[in-house]
Amino acid sequence: MLSFCFSLLAATLVPVAAAVAAGPAACSNITTQLGSSKVVASPLNLKYIDSIEYWNTLQDAYQPSCVVYPASAQDVSVALQAIRAADSRFAIKAGGHNPNTFYSSVDAGVLLDLSSMTAKSYDADTTLATYEPGGVFGDVYEYFVQYNRTVVGARLAGVGTGLALGGGMSYLSPQYGMACDSFRELEIVLPDGQIVTASKDSNPDLFFASRGGGGNAYGVVTKYTVQSRPAGEFYAGNIIYTFPQKDSVIEAIGNFIQYNTDPKAAIIGTYEKLPTPDLNLNLDEAIIMFLVYDGPDPGTAFDNFTSIPYLLNTCSIKTYPEVVDMPIPMATELSRGANMFRVGVHRPGNNSYETALNKWRAWAEDNKGKYLLLSLDFQPVPKSLTDASKAQGGNAMQMPDGPWFWLNYLITTPVGMSEPDYNAVQQSYRDMVADTGNAEGLPLFINDANYDQNPLQTFSTFAKLQEIKKKYDPDNFFADKTGGWSFA
Ligand SMILES: Cc1cc2nc3c(=O)[nH]c(=O)nc-3n(C[C@H](O)[C@H](O)[C@H](O)COP(=O)(O)OP(=O)(O)OC[C@H]3O[C@@H](n4cnc5c(N)ncnc54)[C@H](O)[C@@H]3O)c2cc1C
Repeated sequence: MLSFCFSLLAATLVPVAAAVAAGPAACSNITTQLGSSKVVASPLNLKYIDSIEYWNTLQDAYQPSCVVYPASAQDVSVALQAIRAADSRFAIKAGGHNPNTFYSSVDAGVLLDLSSMTAKSYDADTTLATYEPGGVFGDVYEYFVQYNRTVVGARLAGVGTGLALGGGMSYLSPQYGMACDSFRELEIVLPDGQIVTASKDSNPDLFFASRGGGGNAYGVVTKYTVQSRPAGEFYAGNIIYTFPQKDSVIEAIGNFIQYNTDPKAAIIGTYEKLPTPDLNLNLDEAIIMFLVYDGPDPGTAFDNFTSIPYLLNTCSIKTYPEVVDMPIPMATELSRGANMFRVGVHRPGNNSYETALNKWRAWAEDNKGKYLLLSLDFQPVPKSLTDASKAQGGNAMQMPDGPWFWLNYLITTPVGMSEPDYNAVQQSYRDMVADTGNAEGLPLFINDANYDQNPLQTFSTFAKLQEIKKKYDPDNFFADKTGGWSFA
């Protein structure tokens, strides 16, 4: 596995020898300035081992020269300037869930692990909430629930705050827009080490780009000030269906995407393919619905799902922290593996939906044995979501009116797959998704995209984002020294 990852590194980047020298030089400078308690260089240290765990476990093999644990924006500034002075590679890690290589992982460079920055606050007069980028959304929700409030963030507790910089789809999004739409002010350490505020009044271009234009691009966000939202009782749960119902459930998902107008109702439809033999009985597949209603009584919102015979239904009254632990607590940790995402975007009511489904099913049949899990996830973008986004100024995607939907294609490959086999299966999966095509004029969701899909180029705002990137990262420090979305 190590040799596989190292050869990936060599192929994509790097003057390895220069990087190997630059990393320790940066680490030594940072240790001098921040003190040894904030820097760990030994790969045997448990803190270091914890820091190099990623949701895509192929990245766990990379060995940073050191891991830095900043406690403040000032610490981040010192670290960035030392990294720049040494000409080292680096990565910024929040929750470590982006599966793309080198987006939050680094080999022979400096890993800035934000996990020590976990301060939070709530102002009852303004109802604004603040949180720092460390920790995961589950911790953020647990804190604000004491005020009967929450923030718009991940649908699974274990995902990190980098989610919001990529837009951030939440169960609350049909009411309040994407997570980034609720940003009111950001504290950002720019690539040159300056600490600035971004809001609609201060550096508004930087604020615009940071609302869904991607992390790891314009600087390091060290504090989020957001509009909090009420969090009371939710009616929520999972319904699991087996093969005889699959076509009815797919039709119900399509109807929900097209016709649901209740912004308190949110769903994710996940169609799972397992590696077990099909035996012409479709024993290798299941559909798991995530149904969430903001309030104790969903009325008729989910009737199209509950009226289909199911294997299991866990819907009940839940708190928000319980909602993001569905289907089981620790789901993000338990789903770690050789995971990769791709994304598509479609409008309901035309045949691109069926085309995508049929191509994905055919690929799954033809490639048995080459995956541990495939999942096709339907993520509705209703008109209420795009209206809520616009009402708050619009985000970097400038989302066209819903309804439309993103399709997330997850593939988990078997442990120990050889490099040629891994590359072949990823290429074949990529070709299948690309062959499906996307709806014209809609943005690909960067939180679910593969790096080679160049999602920013699908944004109507791409030229503006390129200008903003040039202004705040003029000498391409971030572009050259860490992974991330292409602005070229
Ligand atoms: C199990 C699972 C569930 C998911 N559920 C959802 C969901 O409900 N909604 C959704 O929208 N997406 C979801 N995603 C996608 C997720 O939003 C992205 O993978 C996101 O990048 C993860 O953020 P992170 O902080 O965990 O990861 P990281 O890999 O640590 O960070 C992601 C990227 O942002 C950068 N970054 C992070 N923090 C900062 C910062 N403070 N300043 C500058 N750059 C930063 C990192 O460098 C990296 O490039 C899910 C992913 C997984 C694996």
